[in-house]
Amino acid sequence: MEETKPVKLNCDFCKKEIECPPDMLDAKKHSCYECFRDLQDNEKLTEEEIENIHVDASTDEIMEDAMMSIAKETFDKIWKKERDNIKSMSKHEAAEAMFASGAYVMFKQVTDLMEEAAEEADKKKAKEKEVKEAKEK
Ligand SMILES: [Zn+2]
Repeated sequence: MEETKPVKLNCDFCKKEIECPPDMLDAKKHSCYECFRDLQDNEKLTEEEIENIHVDASTDEIMEDAMMSIAKETFDKIWKKERDNIKSMSKHEAAEAMFASGAYVMFKQVTDLMEEAAEEADKKKAKEKEVKEAKEK
């Protein structure tokens, strides 16, 4: 399986050495995860640019980041929705309400993410199969 070996190249932004899978080599830009996060946080990238960029990141880093942004998003959403209710609750009731709706939203978002990841994996498998079959013909 030599074709799937990652290729070493440099981050387009900080020149740090990063790795790129061969099927991502024609991405317009390559970025390490730190630079990508910085660019994204400061909204320096358009959506089109984000789609055409290859980011070298470990699954752990991505998951951690995703979890953090989900947690923040979730909290903001619930806070906006429950703010008025919470004012009339005791601290204990408020904590319980926040926790209950937070846990539900988190659970739902994580399930959605996992479904998405499974779909992606299926698509990738189907594509690999196609390529393999095409080669065998
Ligand atoms: Zn970089």
